[in-house]
Amino acid sequence: MDIDPWGSDSVDDYSKLFDEFGIDEFDVSDVPEPLDLMRRGIIFGERDYDLVKEAMREGEEFAALSGFMPSGNLHLGHLMVLRELVWHQQRGADTYFVVADLEAHSARGMSWEECERYAREYVLSLLALGFDPEKGTVYRQSDNDELRDLAFELGEQTNFNELNAIYGFDGETNIGHMQSTLTQAADILYPQLDEPKPTVIPVGTDQDPHLRLTRGLARRMRMFGVTEAYASFEIEDEHKSVVREAVKDTDGELTAEELAETVEDEELADRLRAGGDETLRARTRVLSRDAPDEAFDAVRDELEALGSVEPFDEHLDVYDADRERVEKVVREVEVEHGGYGFYPPSSFYHRFMTGLTGGKMSSSVPKSHIAVTDEPEDASEKVMSATTGGRETAEEQREKGGDPDDCPVYELYAYTVAKDDEHAERVYEECANGERLCGGCKSEAADLTADFLEEHQEARDEARETLEESDIEL
Ligand code: SF4
Repeated sequence: MDIDPWGSDSVDDYSKLFDEFGIDEFDVSDVPEPLDLMRRGIIFGERDYDLVKEAMREGEEFAALSGFMPSGNLHLGHLMVLRELVWHQQRGADTYFVVADLEAHSARGMSWEECERYAREYVLSLLALGFDPEKGTVYRQSDNDELRDLAFELGEQTNFNELNAIYGFDGETNIGHMQSTLTQAADILYPQLDEPKPTVIPVGTDQDPHLRLTRGLARRMRMFGVTEAYASFEIEDEHKSVVREAVKDTDGELTAEELAETVEDEELADRLRAGGDETLRARTRVLSRDAPDEAFDAVRDELEALGSVEPFDEHLDVYDADRERVEKVVREVEVEHGGYGFYPPSSFYHRFMTGLTGGKMSSSVPKSHIAVTDEPEDASEKVMSATTGGRETAEEQREKGGDPDDCPVYELYAYTVAKDDEHAERVYEECANGERLCGGCKSEAADLTADFLEEHQEARDEARETLEESDIEL
């Protein structure tokens, strides 16, 4: 399965993303006052979002960042990212909106003037949806020197093979396009430049390659790594759960060769046999990645206050200490010694809106989308001519029900125009059980869409003034 940040804006089978790319299912249950897109299952996947949820619940610092390549009309499908950002800002996030003009220029060939024009459109909607420019930050990649310096440093931590594996680049890919991926990675880490903090990047699934690249880079930019360990020798990550389970009730009693006799995985068994009669004991390992000696010594001193520390040349093993506290101490010392201390960026993913004409919603196909600047009457007409998940005849629909799961009109309700959850649910149920027919359903959606646009466009008009008064430079 390929995910292309510059091409794929539809996904055939979302479940494959969990298996093939290690995206976790989004758990809405412990999100404080969840956004409707979360409650309705439109946000479906995440990476490490627990870090952000915890910060939100505990009132600790966290950040949110997302943005757009300014390369086409802003449509209703795009509003999800903007709403997700505003929602995080309203819950205390230090919030950033990126105008990815370097990327648009290198990957899409957009002129700087076009970038500026589209950027203005996007920012107006961001402000119209409630973004507070006094508390948040909007920047253009091409104007941000710190960002470009960070991108340069990130470039020292990656190579062509890695970019090729993640993005499928080849010998024909221009260097500017490759460089733009590092700029994206720098964007993702930018909120942590002054101070490390959990940071969420809300995006469409097509942007996940940038997250995969950046999570690896965030680790490599650290002076220290913190991992779980059970012996003086290393155990592969994929085998740790087996050892963790075995050691849970036998900490310090079971030897490596004794455990080797009970495990099924041959590779793990060989590893354990080579460990001989060393007893297995849970510990937290702090690995130095080129950390200066003073930082290494300072980490050891600080950790001795948390538990017993066994020093090695390149790492420290800490016993009887809470891993989260170890990570916190290590990060603090790293930052004090001039390191970045980055948290791996968290992310979550929403489903794409289907185009009104079926297939993918595309900025370059006006009939497939409703642009935020469409005249409300034109938007209504587009909804009335949309494809649906309805049956051939009204009779058949009454008998068998429609298919809201395969209907762009139902998506309009669920993603944008439903009055509340109960309304979205009612449309779904009435469609599926045959009570609702497509003509009336589209007409209701068309009216709601026109109302939504009128309101949004009014808010955009008011936002023009806010934009002029703010220090946002486009
Ligand atoms: S009744 Fe509404 S939701 Fe159901 S298929 Fe028709 S347009 Fe779609």
